[in-house]
Amino acid sequence: GIAFDGERFLPIEKAMVPLEDRAHQFGDGIYEVIRIYQGTFFKLEEHMKRLERSAQAVALTLPYEMSKIMELIEKARLASECKEAALYIQVSRGAARRDHPFPDAPARLTMTVRPVFTEKTTALRRLGQRVMTTEDIRWSWCYIKSLNLLPNVLMKQRALDAGFNDAIFVRDGLVTEGTSSNIAILRDRTLYTHPANQAILHGVTRHVVLELAREIGISVVEKAFTVKELKEADEAFTMSTIAEIVPIRQVDEALIKNGNVDEFELTHLLQERFAAQHSRDLVK
Ligand code: PLP
Repeated sequence: GIAFDGERFLPIEKAMVPLEDRAHQFGDGIYEVIRIYQGTFFKLEEHMKRLERSAQAVALTLPYEMSKIMELIEKARLASECKEAALYIQVSRGAARRDHPFPDAPARLTMTVRPVFTEKTTALRRLGQRVMTTEDIRWSWCYIKSLNLLPNVLMKQRALDAGFNDAIFVRDGLVTEGTSSNIAILRDRTLYTHPANQAILHGVTRHVVLELAREIGISVVEKAFTVKELKEADEAFTMSTIAEIVPIRQVDEALIKNGNVDEFELTHLLQERFAAQHSRDLVK
């Protein structure tokens, strides 16, 4: 893998940022994760648009023009020499003596590109996952891809410790999203997913999946559902850049379709279309 520390490209193990970086002090920054399939970025522009929206939402000025950022990203990809990989890009509000007001310092943009190990996610996509519902204790600006992931980290670990694969957040009785994914259910050939408002991250994968669903004649309803509706769904799955489309076979104590994800016909169709989409993008 390769890193960009804000000034130069170097091996990830050698890359460092100052102790007094705002990301370190306050989690004061934003990020994106972008998948590289066979040496080609998937939905790079969508991710960079979201980075710009996150930056704007937290009054952070990106340190370079977008064209320069795109050049750095391309350089990082080439230097990494990775085919199946993920680019992590972070922008922090820079380094300064610890004090809450915005510093008089330039923002710092850093990156890593490293290989992704697909064995685990491939297996999950086939076998499905068990999820645990948990209260959504996060703040009310979840559409911003901010560095503050403590609730996500805590609930992920709590789920793992309880023998589940992941936690699903529930706010006011309605399912919002996973700790690092969006979530959808299928009922009578209709897909339901939380609307893209402030309560969830507007996932790039979510957007692609909704498009694919419409293409194959599934009705799409962007309306939040309850835990009961999740447990009683015909099919359910999460969506994210790294794990892609992962069927949910169990929610708390309840099995979906008796836990037989092999019978998730529409989820499988969406998985196939999704795979075809990233190979189609390669040909372009
Ligand atoms: N929701 C949360 C909280 C996430 O952290 C992520 C990404 O990791 C997603 C949803 C999915 O977003 P995307 O499809 O853009 O990766």
